[in-house]
Amino acid sequence: MSKGLLIVISGPSGTGKGTICRELLRRNKNINLSISATTRKPRNGEVDGINYFFITKEDFEDMIRKEEFLEYANVYGNYYGTPKKFVLDKLDEGKDVLLEIDIQGALSVKKLYPDGIFIFILPPSMEELRHRIEKRGTETEESLKTRLNSAYKEISYVNEYEYAIINDEVDKAVSKIEFIIEAERCRVKRLGEIIKRYEEV
Ligand code: 5GP
Repeated sequence: MSKGLLIVISGPSGTGKGTICRELLRRNKNINLSISATTRKPRNGEVDGINYFFITKEDFEDMIRKEEFLEYANVYGNYYGTPKKFVLDKLDEGKDVLLEIDIQGALSVKKLYPDGIFIFILPPSMEELRHRIEKRGTETEESLKTRLNSAYKEISYVNEYEYAIINDEVDKAVSKIEFIIEAERCRVKRLGEIIKRYEEV
């Protein structure tokens, strides 16, 4: 049986990658979302085991020691990590897995698992990103600047990814990701056993 696809999506905050991932999962029930563990406190409405596994710093560090993470990173002062077992089991079962993780995490996964599909979500423009962050209304002028600066820095990593999607319309962005997944499925390198059948004739 061929392995499932590992789809890795990242991009700066404010690009709408969360919305894109939710819509991708809604439209494609066969894609399994990897639920990350984090030491950050749950936000209003977030549920343990659905949005994240909310765990203590001690438990997180224990999991690091036991090598239970595929990757982990410190993002804005909190730990975030991808539990390894779920991802590897699903891929072995031939099922596709989606990781929505930050850039450091994506780069670690790329080293371990270069066969993954690495997709970067871009805002329509930097003005639009600023507008989206402002619209959330939770940002002071200072933290808006910090977020925008980190967005600039993060965007420079787009070159490490194979695909970039400009999120000007969620539906279109999701369709593009679906096309990418379909195209990736046709890659000769992923069709090993199937191609062999043709060689035997
Ligand atoms: P938030 O706190 O807003 O949910 O997420 C903050 C950042 O952490 C986002 O960029 C999100 O993609 C990233 N993130 C979430 N889970 C993981 C993970 O398991 N590993 C890594 N490296 N980043 C993650």
